[in-house]
Amino acid sequence: MSLLSLEGVSRVYATRRGLFGTPVPVRAVDHISFSVAPGRTLGIVGESGCGKSTTGRVALGIERPSEGTVSFEGAAMPTPGTPEWRRLRARLQLVYQDPLGAMDRRLTVAAQVAEPLEIHGIGDKAERQDRVAALLRDVGLRADLAQRHPHELSGGQRQRAVLARALATDPALLVADEPVSALDVSIQAQVINMLTDLQEARGIAMLFISHDLKVVRQVSHEVAVMYLGRIVEQGDPEAIFADPLHPYSRALVSAIPVPGPRRIERIVLSGDPPNPADRPSGCAFHPRCALATASCRAEVPQLKPAADGRQVACHLVEAA
Ligand code: SF4
Repeated sequence: MSLLSLEGVSRVYATRRGLFGTPVPVRAVDHISFSVAPGRTLGIVGESGCGKSTTGRVALGIERPSEGTVSFEGAAMPTPGTPEWRRLRARLQLVYQDPLGAMDRRLTVAAQVAEPLEIHGIGDKAERQDRVAALLRDVGLRADLAQRHPHELSGGQRQRAVLARALATDPALLVADEPVSALDVSIQAQVINMLTDLQEARGIAMLFISHDLKVVRQVSHEVAVMYLGRIVEQGDPEAIFADPLHPYSRALVSAIPVPGPRRIERIVLSGDPPNPADRPSGCAFHPRCALATASCRAEVPQLKPAADGRQVACHLVEAA
């Protein structure tokens, strides 16, 4: 049974064109559906502005979907701010990209990790101290760092402290939004290994959001590639990396540095993703797609089953 499920979810914001322009609806997330089972990781990948972070906030219930439903353990996500939602929040945690921004600079590491336990009334003072010490050990932080402040830690140590805080309430779901992109490559590997080990040991489901397809491949059981608010390809990471079917996935995979001869010729995408407030007609990728045809400009491709159990939204990909 899935732990988290999104069905036909959209998130629409109203934005103005110019200072006095009339508000226009912007679909940051547009009719996406997926589910994540306990202990599994869904990687969400795409360029900046594709809607992946909004998807994470909607999945956590921090933002309400404008359309569709978000369910957790088979029940509809409660309205943010209600007592039901606050109770559930202990089981849904977010790990941010910027650990320094996510931490309170005035509090020690131990105080920050203890904070969610206090907020949710978990344990007495002695039990909380024991739990904080165990969490710091679990994320590989030395005991003497517990009384340090965030600015006294390295970037990797800060991200470990943020993870210890996220794990304090024994969450069932972690949304990790670009959790290692601010770290050096050598530290990235250590934090990712630690994160996946802890996830496996505790059976936590994870939404791993990143622009870095290489990192997403390492951690994910399933991958969803997003473009301008929509999922354009979804399925097994190894199948997507070996033979990406959507032209956008193909361009992303082709950009990953690989040793030796390339299996997929490098595809350089021209221009930036279009403005979501001015969405291109038909397939939103058509202005950047070398394969676009007249029907691509007229009809929105829907996700449909393709090879290897994947789902792909492209007029040129044959349905399985
Ligand atoms: Fe390219 Fe057309 Fe497929 Fe869109 S539907 S990705 S424009 S070929």
